Amino acid sequence: MSAAPMLEVRGVSAGYGTFRALFDVSLEVRAGEAVAVIGPNGAGKTTLLRVISKIIAPTAGDVVMEGTPLGPVPAHRVVELGIAHVPEHRRLFPRLTVEENLRMGAFHPAARAKFRERLDFVYELFPRMKERRNQAAGTMSGGEQQMCAIGRALMSGPKLLLMDEPSAGLAPVIVQQVFNLVKRIRAEGYTVLIVEQNIQQVLQVVDRAYLLEVGTIKQSGSSAELLASPEIRRAYLGL
Ligand code: ATP
Repeated sequence: MSAAPMLEVRGVSAGYGTFRALFDVSLEVRAGEAVAVIGPNGAGKTTLLRVISKIIAPTAGDVVMEGTPLGPVPAHRVVELGIAHVPEHRRLFPRLTVEENLRMGAFHPAARAKFRERLDFVYELFPRMKERRNQAAGTMSGGEQQMCAIGRALMSGPKLLLMDEPSAGLAPVIVQQVFNLVKRIRAEGYTVLIVEQNIQQVLQVVDRAYLLEVGTIKQSGSSAELLASPEIRRAYLGL
Protein backbone atom coordinates (compact mmCIF):
# COMPACT_ATOMS: atom_id res chain seq x y z
CA MET A 1 0.00 0.00 0.00
CA SER A 2 1.30 3.45 -0.83
CA ALA A 3 1.24 6.18 1.80
CA ALA A 4 -1.65 8.65 2.09
CA PRO A 5 -1.32 11.74 -0.11
CA MET A 6 0.35 14.82 1.36
CA LEU A 7 -2.41 17.06 0.03
CA GLU A 8 -5.97 16.13 -0.80
CA VAL A 9 -8.51 18.49 -2.32
CA ARG A 10 -11.87 16.85 -1.74
CA GLY A 11 -14.93 17.96 -3.67
CA VAL A 12 -14.12 21.67 -3.48
CA SER A 13 -16.49 24.29 -4.85
CA ALA A 14 -15.65 27.97 -4.46
CA GLY A 15 -16.34 31.35 -5.96
CA TYR A 16 -16.69 35.07 -5.47
CA GLY A 17 -20.08 36.29 -4.24
CA THR A 18 -22.66 34.45 -6.29
CA PHE A 19 -20.16 33.56 -9.02
CA ARG A 20 -18.87 29.98 -8.89
CA ALA A 21 -15.32 29.49 -10.12
CA LEU A 22 -14.77 25.86 -8.99
CA PHE A 23 -17.21 22.95 -9.17
CA ASP A 24 -16.55 19.84 -7.08
CA VAL A 25 -12.79 19.74 -7.70
CA SER A 26 -10.81 16.82 -6.27
CA LEU A 27 -7.12 16.14 -6.64
CA GLU A 28 -4.20 14.82 -4.66
CA VAL A 29 -0.48 15.38 -4.39
CA ARG A 30 1.86 12.80 -2.87
CA ALA A 31 5.02 13.61 -0.95
CA GLY A 32 7.89 14.30 -3.34
CA GLU A 33 5.67 14.71 -6.39
CA ALA A 34 5.48 17.70 -8.70
CA VAL A 35 1.94 18.10 -10.00
CA ALA A 36 0.56 20.73 -12.36
CA VAL A 37 -2.90 22.15 -12.80
CA ILE A 38 -3.10 23.30 -16.38
CA GLY A 39 -5.85 25.10 -18.21
CA PRO A 40 -6.82 28.29 -19.98
CA ASN A 41 -7.35 31.79 -18.60
CA GLY A 42 -10.16 32.01 -16.10
CA ALA A 43 -10.41 28.22 -15.59
CA GLY A 44 -10.16 28.64 -11.82
CA LYS A 45 -6.51 27.67 -11.29
CA THR A 46 -5.66 30.67 -9.09
CA THR A 47 -8.90 30.21 -7.17
CA LEU A 48 -7.91 26.60 -6.43
CA LEU A 49 -4.57 27.68 -4.95
CA ARG A 50 -6.33 30.40 -2.96
CA VAL A 51 -8.63 27.77 -1.44
CA ILE A 52 -5.68 25.52 -0.54
CA SER A 53 -3.85 28.34 1.25
CA LYS A 54 -7.13 29.59 2.78
CA ILE A 55 -7.11 33.01 1.18
CA ILE A 56 -10.70 32.17 0.29
CA ALA A 57 -13.03 29.63 1.88
CA PRO A 58 -14.66 26.88 -0.19
CA THR A 59 -18.46 26.76 -0.34
CA ALA A 60 -18.29 22.95 -0.32
CA GLY A 61 -15.63 20.32 0.21
CA ASP A 62 -12.37 20.57 2.11
CA VAL A 63 -8.61 20.45 1.75
CA VAL A 64 -6.60 17.99 3.83
CA MET A 65 -2.88 18.45 4.49
CA GLU A 66 -1.09 15.38 5.89
CA GLY A 67 -4.36 14.16 7.38
CA THR A 68 -5.38 17.53 8.86
CA PRO A 69 -8.58 19.00 7.38
CA LEU A 70 -7.95 22.71 6.82
CA GLY A 71 -11.60 23.69 7.35
CA PRO A 72 -11.21 24.50 11.06
CA VAL A 73 -7.58 25.71 10.78
CA PRO A 74 -7.21 29.53 10.92
CA ALA A 75 -5.70 30.94 7.71
CA HIS A 76 -2.53 32.16 9.43
CA ARG A 77 -1.76 28.62 10.66
CA VAL A 78 -1.76 27.08 7.19
CA VAL A 79 1.86 28.06 6.66
CA GLU A 80 2.78 26.27 9.90
CA LEU A 81 1.32 23.06 8.44
CA GLY A 82 3.95 23.32 5.70
CA ILE A 83 2.11 25.04 2.85
CA ALA A 84 3.77 28.04 1.16
CA HIS A 85 2.24 30.00 -1.71
CA VAL A 86 4.24 31.72 -4.43
CA PRO A 87 1.51 34.03 -5.70
CA GLU A 88 0.66 35.10 -9.22
CA HIS A 89 2.69 38.17 -10.28
CA ARG A 90 5.15 37.41 -7.47
CA ARG A 91 3.81 40.13 -5.12
CA LEU A 92 7.19 41.22 -3.81
CA PHE A 93 7.61 44.43 -1.86
CA PRO A 94 9.37 46.33 -4.67
CA ARG A 95 11.05 49.00 -2.52
CA LEU A 96 12.33 46.54 0.05
CA THR A 97 15.62 44.77 -0.56
CA VAL A 98 15.86 41.13 -1.59
CA GLU A 99 16.85 40.18 1.95
CA GLU A 100 13.99 42.15 3.49
CA ASN A 101 11.59 40.36 1.15
CA LEU A 102 13.07 37.01 2.15
CA ARG A 103 12.64 37.94 5.80
CA MET A 104 8.90 38.46 5.14
CA GLY A 105 8.64 34.75 4.38
CA ALA A 106 9.91 33.82 7.84
CA PHE A 107 7.22 35.60 9.83
CA HIS A 108 5.86 32.81 12.01
CA PRO A 109 7.76 32.18 15.26
CA ALA A 110 9.14 28.75 14.32
CA ALA A 111 10.46 30.19 11.04
CA ARG A 112 11.94 33.26 12.75
CA ALA A 113 13.99 30.96 14.95
CA LYS A 114 15.49 29.35 11.84
CA PHE A 115 15.88 32.57 9.88
CA ARG A 116 19.67 32.53 9.48
CA GLU A 117 19.85 28.85 8.58
CA ARG A 118 17.10 29.17 5.95
CA LEU A 119 18.57 32.35 4.54
CA ASP A 120 21.89 30.56 4.05
CA PHE A 121 20.01 27.72 2.33
CA VAL A 122 18.17 30.11 -0.04
CA TYR A 123 21.45 31.90 -0.85
CA GLU A 124 23.13 28.58 -1.53
CA LEU A 125 20.27 27.52 -3.80
CA PHE A 126 20.09 30.90 -5.53
CA PRO A 127 23.54 32.58 -5.36
CA ARG A 128 22.11 35.40 -7.49
CA MET A 129 19.92 36.40 -4.54
CA LYS A 130 22.97 36.59 -2.30
CA GLU A 131 24.72 38.86 -4.79
CA ARG A 132 21.64 41.08 -4.92
CA ARG A 133 20.65 40.90 -1.28
CA ASN A 134 20.84 44.68 -0.76
CA GLN A 135 19.13 45.59 -4.04
CA ALA A 136 15.49 46.79 -4.12
CA ALA A 137 13.49 43.78 -5.33
CA GLY A 138 11.48 45.88 -7.79
CA THR A 139 14.61 46.80 -9.75
CA MET A 140 15.49 43.20 -10.64
CA SER A 141 14.54 41.34 -13.82
CA GLY A 142 11.32 39.31 -13.90
CA GLY A 143 13.21 36.02 -13.60
CA GLU A 144 15.19 37.26 -10.61
CA GLN A 145 12.01 38.50 -8.98
CA GLN A 146 10.48 35.05 -9.44
CA MET A 147 13.58 33.56 -7.80
CA CYS A 148 13.11 35.96 -4.88
CA ALA A 149 9.41 35.05 -4.57
CA ILE A 150 10.30 31.34 -4.49
CA GLY A 151 13.05 32.07 -1.96
CA ARG A 152 10.59 33.97 0.22
CA ALA A 153 8.23 30.97 0.19
CA LEU A 154 11.11 28.64 1.16
CA MET A 155 11.90 30.83 4.18
CA SER A 156 8.81 29.47 5.98
CA GLY A 157 10.28 25.94 5.81
CA PRO A 158 7.45 24.44 3.74
CA LYS A 159 6.86 20.87 2.66
CA LEU A 160 4.51 21.84 -0.15
CA LEU A 161 5.08 24.76 -2.49
CA LEU A 162 2.08 26.18 -4.35
CA MET A 163 3.29 28.05 -7.43
CA ASP A 164 0.89 30.27 -9.36
CA GLU A 165 1.95 30.81 -12.98
CA PRO A 166 5.62 31.42 -12.29
CA SER A 167 6.28 31.94 -16.02
CA ALA A 168 3.60 34.62 -16.51
CA GLY A 169 4.78 37.85 -18.09
CA LEU A 170 8.36 36.66 -18.61
CA ALA A 171 10.38 36.64 -21.85
CA PRO A 172 10.71 33.15 -23.43
CA VAL A 173 14.38 32.74 -22.49
CA ILE A 174 13.57 33.60 -18.87
CA VAL A 175 10.58 31.26 -18.89
CA GLN A 176 12.95 28.34 -19.45
CA GLN A 177 15.07 29.52 -16.50
CA VAL A 178 11.98 29.61 -14.30
CA PHE A 179 11.09 26.03 -15.23
CA ASN A 180 14.67 25.08 -14.40
CA LEU A 181 14.10 26.62 -10.96
CA VAL A 182 11.07 24.38 -10.54
CA LYS A 183 13.29 21.38 -11.32
CA ARG A 184 15.82 22.56 -8.73
CA ILE A 185 13.16 22.93 -6.04
CA ARG A 186 11.94 19.46 -6.88
CA ALA A 187 15.45 18.02 -6.64
CA GLU A 188 15.76 19.55 -3.16
CA GLY A 189 12.89 17.31 -2.07
CA TYR A 190 10.04 19.79 -2.01
CA THR A 191 6.60 18.73 -3.09
CA VAL A 192 5.21 21.10 -5.72
CA LEU A 193 1.73 21.97 -6.95
CA ILE A 194 2.09 24.37 -9.86
CA VAL A 195 -0.54 26.18 -11.87
CA GLU A 196 0.40 27.03 -15.45
CA GLN A 197 -0.89 28.10 -18.83
CA ASN A 198 2.46 27.29 -20.35
CA ILE A 199 1.41 23.70 -20.83
CA GLN A 200 4.13 22.33 -23.09
CA GLN A 201 6.90 23.49 -20.76
CA VAL A 202 5.33 22.70 -17.42
CA LEU A 203 4.64 19.12 -18.53
CA GLN A 204 8.40 18.70 -18.97
CA VAL A 205 9.05 19.33 -15.26
CA VAL A 206 6.11 17.67 -13.45
CA ASP A 207 5.14 14.03 -12.90
CA ARG A 208 1.40 14.40 -13.34
CA ALA A 209 -1.15 17.04 -14.20
CA TYR A 210 -4.83 17.87 -14.01
CA LEU A 211 -6.59 19.81 -16.77
CA LEU A 212 -9.01 22.37 -15.33
CA GLU A 213 -11.59 23.95 -17.63
CA VAL A 214 -14.39 26.23 -16.46
CA GLY A 215 -13.90 25.19 -12.85
CA THR A 216 -14.02 21.43 -13.49
CA ILE A 217 -11.27 18.80 -13.77
CA LYS A 218 -11.60 17.48 -17.31
CA GLN A 219 -8.60 15.15 -17.51
CA SER A 220 -5.72 13.92 -15.41
CA GLY A 221 -2.75 11.68 -15.91
CA SER A 222 1.00 11.47 -16.15
CA SER A 223 2.77 14.23 -18.05
CA ALA A 224 3.45 11.79 -20.89
CA GLU A 225 -0.23 10.83 -21.09
CA LEU A 226 -1.37 14.44 -21.22
CA LEU A 227 1.26 15.37 -23.79
CA ALA A 228 -0.08 12.53 -25.93
CA SER A 229 -3.77 13.38 -25.37
CA PRO A 230 -5.44 14.32 -28.69
CA GLU A 231 -7.68 16.91 -26.94
CA ILE A 232 -4.75 18.62 -25.24
CA ARG A 233 -2.63 18.52 -28.37
CA ARG A 234 -5.41 20.07 -30.41
CA ALA A 235 -6.76 22.64 -27.93
CA TYR A 236 -3.60 23.70 -26.10
CA LEU A 237 -0.51 22.69 -28.02
CA GLY A 238 -1.65 23.68 -31.50
CA LEU A 239 -0.64 20.28 -32.87
P1 ATP B 1 -5.82 33.28 -14.97
O1 ATP B 1 -4.74 32.51 -15.57
O2 ATP B 1 -6.45 34.26 -15.89
O3 ATP B 1 -5.51 33.84 -13.61
P2 ATP B 1 -7.23 31.18 -13.61
O4 ATP B 1 -7.44 29.84 -14.22
O5 ATP B 1 -6.22 31.32 -12.56
O6 ATP B 1 -6.99 32.21 -14.77
P3 ATP B 1 -9.02 32.36 -11.73
O7 ATP B 1 -8.18 33.57 -11.55
O8 ATP B 1 -9.09 31.37 -10.62
O9 ATP B 1 -8.64 31.60 -13.07
O10 ATP B 1 -10.48 32.86 -12.08
C1 ATP B 1 -11.61 31.96 -12.21
C2 ATP B 1 -12.84 32.80 -12.42
O11 ATP B 1 -13.11 33.57 -11.24
C3 ATP B 1 -12.72 33.80 -13.56
O12 ATP B 1 -13.96 33.84 -14.24
C4 ATP B 1 -12.44 35.11 -12.86
O13 ATP B 1 -12.96 36.19 -13.59
C5 ATP B 1 -13.17 34.95 -11.54
N1 ATP B 1 -12.50 35.69 -10.46
C6 ATP B 1 -11.21 35.56 -10.09
N2 ATP B 1 -10.93 36.37 -9.04
C7 ATP B 1 -12.07 37.03 -8.76
C8 ATP B 1 -12.45 38.01 -7.78
N3 ATP B 1 -11.55 38.46 -6.87
N4 ATP B 1 -13.72 38.47 -7.81
C9 ATP B 1 -14.61 38.00 -8.73
N5 ATP B 1 -14.34 37.07 -9.65
C10 ATP B 1 -13.09 36.59 -9.68
